[in-house]
Amino acid sequence: MSEIDSLKAQLKSLQDKALGLFAEAADLQALQDLRVNYLGKKGELTSVLKGVGKLPPEERPVIGQFVNATKGVLAEALEKAEQVLAAKASEARIEAERIDVTLAGRKCPQGALHPVQQGLNEMTAIFAQMGFEMAEGPEIEDEFHNFDALNIPQEHPARASHDTFFFNAEGEDEAMLLRTHTSPVQIRAMQACVDAGGEPPLAVVAAGRVYRCDYDVTHSPMFHQVEVFKVDKDVSLANLKGVLQHFLSAYFEKDVPIRLRPHYFPFTEPSAEVDIGCVFCNHKGCRICKGSGWIEVLGSGMIHPNVLKAVGIDSTVYSGFAFGLGVERLVMLKHGIPDLRLFFENDVRFLRRMGA
Ligand SMILES: [Zn+2]
Repeated sequence: MSEIDSLKAQLKSLQDKALGLFAEAADLQALQDLRVNYLGKKGELTSVLKGVGKLPPEERPVIGQFVNATKGVLAEALEKAEQVLAAKASEARIEAERIDVTLAGRKCPQGALHPVQQGLNEMTAIFAQMGFEMAEGPEIEDEFHNFDALNIPQEHPARASHDTFFFNAEGEDEAMLLRTHTSPVQIRAMQACVDAGGEPPLAVVAAGRVYRCDYDVTHSPMFHQVEVFKVDKDVSLANLKGVLQHFLSAYFEKDVPIRLRPHYFPFTEPSAEVDIGCVFCNHKGCRICKGSGWIEVLGSGMIHPNVLKAVGIDSTVYSGFAFGLGVERLVMLKHGIPDLRLFFENDVRFLRRMGA
């Protein structure tokens, strides 16, 4: 066999072997290794080319063409094998990531509003519908807004009943305190109106935390109040009763009978405690209402002229009503919750039952 035929035979067998290996390559990495083995600078094709030097010069171009053709065949075969493997890999990936859409979904635990916040939102929404405007005030108050302006001067016995948390800031003229009710927002809202050169009508609802040094089944050192007041010309007790009747029926989602019972608050005159027909026995009399058929829900009254005076509103022209209610108390009555402390213990079983 001549030198050139021997080279040609070598190239042919190299090509056949390579094509076989390309077709069997398991993955793209194996194929890459084969490319280096055959077509790389130190690959098998290169080592065959070393034999070309021994050929007579006129035969070299012939074998050169042959080598190039082999190179072309191998390169093409590699490319095809690559495409096949890439398609296979992509199919395998899709198969692995397949989602069974017929499987039932996994339920994600979902957060919700605390029952007190839910109740607070429900209540303020009812007043907002009636046209009352939302207002806010600070939880750290001064004595003027929490007491003095509300007709509870220093040494007034009502101050003692508020069990106030005071801040003992030394060297300050006026003691600061945690507000004991949301009524200071009344003062702030009326002051803001007067300071801005405005005058009533004012119809405001304010909600928020209040603090008293007290703790038992029905008392917590922190609880929530909703404060509602209206000041205008000719505001009467009948307006107060109408607003209360509408609010309480809307909140309890049924027609609840109400009654106003004379009472005393320093900041209202006349003052009344408001009872609703017992929601547990439908007004017939049970253990919870102590057989009376009535349950006390909030305190109310006509704003005391001294309160209007304190903020610079002419009490001979304007009158108003005001009331404040305990959010926790109403939520307890609506949902039959026996112990106020349940709201603050964060027992998830209780919160879940309340839809939180
Ligand atoms: Zn009852």
